Amino acid sequence: MRNSADVVIVGGGVMGCSMLYYLANLGVARTLLLERDVLGSGSTGRSQAICRMHYSNPVTASLAWESLQVFTNFDQMVGGGSGFVKTGYLVIVEPVDRQGLAQNVAMQLELGIATRLVSAAELRDLAPAVQIFPEEGLAWEPESGYADPYQVTTSYAARARERGAEIALRTSVTGIEVANGRVQGVVTEQGKVAAGTVVVAAGPWSRRVLEGVGVDVPLVPVRHQIMLVTRPVEAVPAHPTVGDIAQSLSFRPDGSNLTMIGFGEDEADVDTYNQGVDMLAAAEVMGRLVRRVPGMADAYFRGGWSGLFTVTPDWHPILDKVPGIEGLYCAVGFSGHGFKLSPMIGLTMAELIVKGRASSVDITPLRFSRFAEGALLSSRYRYRVLA
Ligand SMILES: Cc1cc2nc3c(=O)[nH]c(=O)nc-3n(C[C@H](O)[C@H](O)[C@H](O)COP(=O)(O)OP(=O)(O)OC[C@H]3O[C@@H](n4cnc5c(N)ncnc54)[C@H](O)[C@@H]3O)c2cc1C
Repeated sequence: MRNSADVVIVGGGVMGCSMLYYLANLGVARTLLLERDVLGSGSTGRSQAICRMHYSNPVTASLAWESLQVFTNFDQMVGGGSGFVKTGYLVIVEPVDRQGLAQNVAMQLELGIATRLVSAAELRDLAPAVQIFPEEGLAWEPESGYADPYQVTTSYAARARERGAEIALRTSVTGIEVANGRVQGVVTEQGKVAAGTVVVAAGPWSRRVLEGVGVDVPLVPVRHQIMLVTRPVEAVPAHPTVGDIAQSLSFRPDGSNLTMIGFGEDEADVDTYNQGVDMLAAAEVMGRLVRRVPGMADAYFRGGWSGLFTVTPDWHPILDKVPGIEGLYCAVGFSGHGFKLSPMIGLTMAELIVKGRASSVDITPLRFSRFAEGALLSSRYRYRVLA
């Protein structure tokens, strides 16, 4: 392992690997990514990996839209696969949220995003299996879908390595060294690495890593459950990806005959949380799914898992320099919706590090100081993962 690098990245999830790749593309390849386990072993490998553009804020909608162009042209733009599957994405809101839905769609259209409001009658052609209740609001994104988080992460890692980056697996960062207000490098179980720039991208463990240098970041681990069911394909041959805000769940197809359902937002402990599925909760969620897709009545449980969201007070990430420590950066707090942004997180963070500011998308609304300034981003919904 290198004992010095121009940039050290802490964490080998999709964010760390994406940053490593875009740094190399901008000419910074004497880099080292340190991962305490294996690539994608944190939140990334547990992700539902839905790629939708529906947000309440232009900054995240833009990051998602620009990232979608990368997912859909991954082999040409990066090299390798993203596993992207275009399914279309349907947002369903309760009557009380219809105005917010319309405002979000109008904002997204201004950004050039492929989306529109649809009626229940139109939806019968787009998604005949899906049942809509009176006065619910609907928006449709024809280009959206889901991708494969492991493939994306390892493709970014492979392309970065080809350009000269180094990745050390099973290597925990135990400390960040700071002297005279400046980063000096990191301490690992395998020894020290000198570096003038260190980026923390340690997912749910980021708070702990930053606490080591006296920086308190408002990050809360929240457990989210994923359940897989075998779909009765005669009754439900296909369905789009659905953000069912009205019922606080999301679901998407997974291959030809499985449906993947995401639900639950419970605060959890990063080391001891239950990584399985609660069967009582799963049974209740199946009831909600069948209410939305009646043909799912004969679906059967195939298993599942849980993972951690890393949640900030406004459910949006922090992409910035860490104030008070020259050379220290963080890309943290993705609050359950980071995967879909990951190409642009990598690019904008690389721009910030190399050029001093992100030029592809203005990420200043996601600055570190926004909590202290009271400049939190707002959501039009109570189902906050759709912030
Ligand atoms: C169940 C679930 C469903 C989700 N669904 C979606 C979705 O549908 N769409 C979407 O866009 N997003 C979704 N997300 C969110 C998305 O997956 C995350 O935002 C994203 O994967 C975060 O990536 P990351 O690289 O920041 O973190 P992680 O993947 O957690 O990576 C951090 C890495 O840092 C390593 N690490 C930690 N501490 C250290 C240390 N001290 N030294 C070295 N390495 C360290 C960890 O081992 C880990 O590999 C979901 C998340 C979960 C959990």
